[in-house]
Amino acid sequence: MLIMIKPNADEAQVAAIKSCVEDLGLRAIESQIRKQLAIAAIGDQGIAPNGFIESLPGVEHVLPIHKQYKLASREFHPDNRVVSVRHIPIGGDAIQVIAGPCSVETPEQMLAAAAGAMTAGASLLRGGAFKPRTSPYSFQGMEEEGLKYLADAARPHGMPVVTELMDPRDIDLFLKYGVDVIQIGTRNMQNFRLLKEVGQLQVPVILKRGLSATIKEWLMAAEYIAAQGNLNIILAERGVRSFEPAYRNMLDVSAIPYLKRETHLPVIVDPSHAGGAAWMVPALSLAAIAAGADGLMIECHPNPAQAWSDGEQALTPQELHALTRQVAAVAQASGRAYGQPLIDLPRAS
Ligand code: PEP
Ligand code: MN
Repeated sequence: MLIMIKPNADEAQVAAIKSCVEDLGLRAIESQIRKQLAIAAIGDQGIAPNGFIESLPGVEHVLPIHKQYKLASREFHPDNRVVSVRHIPIGGDAIQVIAGPCSVETPEQMLAAAAGAMTAGASLLRGGAFKPRTSPYSFQGMEEEGLKYLADAARPHGMPVVTELMDPRDIDLFLKYGVDVIQIGTRNMQNFRLLKEVGQLQVPVILKRGLSATIKEWLMAAEYIAAQGNLNIILAERGVRSFEPAYRNMLDVSAIPYLKRETHLPVIVDPSHAGGAAWMVPALSLAAIAAGADGLMIECHPNPAQAWSDGEQALTPQELHALTRQVAAVAQASGRAYGQPLIDLPRAS
């Protein structure tokens, strides 16, 4: 339920309302509904005696939250949530691009990837250090060394970093290397222990859609994170498994406007794992922005032919540079802006 607080309620009354909510075994989480303070009481609501909350001083009225995903729903937070990743706002009026290789490989590869992503107009750097591979015999990631290469490559550019967490036992390592955004990958969307653990941090989380997850399952997974107190959640549509074998996954473009209506959380799109081919990435990226996505996560490698994973779907930095200009144009046509100043490439002599 949502407890709407009277505009003239004082701090002591708000604190008393919250502690009553907590005494009932519920979680009290603040929100703003059309500039009015509200407290969401989340949990098993059967135990609040009828009319008890309404009778507390400072309470104006109580509203139900109809959706099963309470904190992820727009009922809880009607305005768009802006997730700040250091100085970068995701979910506001500007489109942000996250770019970098599928896997962190070597220090040199990451330095080139970071410089390429930055020049191309990306605002965050990605790179997987722990890789969820279909085969146990495929490259599994550089692990701790990879986190270091990623952080070292991003630092000179002041770029925040995004990398995938597969196991709660690695959280301390992620914090040690200053990971700015924790990615929960497709295969772990319903790993509830992992979701609860990242929910206990305040680090922003990118929650990728499960291979065959419905939107409701996806939002319920986001709810697991939010219910622990971390509302810094970004949803990433990356294509779903379909009947069509011609491309890696089917980008669910319809999910973008649907989610923007249903949730306040930012929605980004990963066109690389959707199409599975570099040549498809520009078309899918532009479709995603036109449909209302708040940003893109694009695989980009300094030398895709030599990539240790997903080379066939990686753009070169030059291709990404050309694409971000088109993304900025579509953003502008849909009343939004592009997140970074776009720099021209030096002319080849
Ligand atoms: C990735 O982004 O590197 C990745 C493994 O993606 P997904 O979880 O969407 O397959
Ligand atoms: Mn990949």
